[in-house]
Amino acid sequence: MRMNTEERLRRMERLLAVARSLSAAPEHETFLQLLISAASELTDSEAASVLEQDSNNRLRFVAAPWFHRDALQSIQVPLEGSAAGWVYQQKKPLILQDAQADSRHNKEADRAANFITRSLLGVPILYRGQTIGVCEVLNKRNDMPYTDEDIAILETLASLAGAAIANAALQRRVQATYDEMARLEQMKNDFIAITSHELRTPLGLILGHATFLRELADKRYKEQLDTIIRNATKLKEIVENLSNVDNVQSGAARLRRKTFSMTQVLTDVAASYLPEAREKGLDFRLSVEDDELRIEGDAEKITIALSNLIKNAIHYTNPGGHVVVVAERIPDYVKVSVIDDGIGIPAKDLPHIFDRFYQVESHLTRRHGGMGLGLSAAKAMVEMHSGRIWAESVEGKGSIFTFILPLEAPPEQGKTKVFTG
Ligand code: ADP
Repeated sequence: MRMNTEERLRRMERLLAVARSLSAAPEHETFLQLLISAASELTDSEAASVLEQDSNNRLRFVAAPWFHRDALQSIQVPLEGSAAGWVYQQKKPLILQDAQADSRHNKEADRAANFITRSLLGVPILYRGQTIGVCEVLNKRNDMPYTDEDIAILETLASLAGAAIANAALQRRVQATYDEMARLEQMKNDFIAITSHELRTPLGLILGHATFLRELADKRYKEQLDTIIRNATKLKEIVENLSNVDNVQSGAARLRRKTFSMTQVLTDVAASYLPEAREKGLDFRLSVEDDELRIEGDAEKITIALSNLIKNAIHYTNPGGHVVVVAERIPDYVKVSVIDDGIGIPAKDLPHIFDRFYQVESHLTRRHGGMGLGLSAAKAMVEMHSGRIWAESVEGKGSIFTFILPLEAPPEQGKTKVFTG
């Protein structure tokens, strides 16, 4: 029976509507339900279903009419001895005009759904040349035979189903990867929190006792005790950086704000690194404008940020090089730059250096110590003050690390500002 133009147009429109709803994509399951109801309607069938291959190399129903859905949910259709399996394996459409008489028809689904399949049309669902499932329509009304038009319609719908199924599988994989990443991130955070907490007390004791002994010990042992103190102090810095980053991450970090002299902090921190810079043969300078720079914030946390930048500049600059710290007032902010003409940072690494544990050289081959925490701690400290930090660098030429801090603490979030006058 030939279709008239009007009927063909109606079917085209219906197909287009299904295609559109794929991109407007409601939920995956809703889309497949929509697709099977369009399949039954357009092929004039009593029922339709979508089967997908599962991990046991069987087919299972992922969409079926609502009145069959529960019954079919647990059914697994074998690839051998079923019409769907035949379509799946042969990658070809199949029409069974008299399903009950055909040995390829698997009656288990009929029994489960309390349904009798008289006729059947199945087409493969393909995605990128691979069969991933089967789309079926059952019992064309008035026992009419399925036609080439029906095959064409069902194949069009099956290709939409293919895109939808592949999409959903991809989404599941992305979600699983996200979940795994979140799990690993949580494990890393727990590890950091526990390690920094557990190391702090014994380290404090080592440092305390070594310092005490140094006062009492005679000259012969001073050098050894200095080595112990120096190395324990290095360990303490690592632990401090770990716990600083962890505290910010977990939201436990608190700012103890008050107005303080940034000029003083700059002078103190620079002075504490002067011996190290001199020992390495570096030209190390501090350039601060004459008017005292005063800001509102947590001096201890700013000291950590500044120390980490200066320490890096000294580490990553070869003897004979220069390190300059420049501080100035800009509108509403103080701007501090730590400039060196050291080894610089490759462009590909620059976007990542503020990430936790990120190091340009691999840990095993690097000449410089450290754990890749200094910059992430500095970033955390600056951002807690609503400041910004960034880096510019040219490999082999040097680096400039800059941060800006607001002169006045921004109003706390959630507090309403009351304007008077
Ligand atoms: P680390 O403990 O490894 O120094 P940081 O977080 O302080 O960790 O720095 C991350 C990485 O950024 C370092 O491993 C280093 O390769 C690079 N880096 C940081 N500061 C400088 C600098 N001034 N010059 C060159 N490279 C730097």
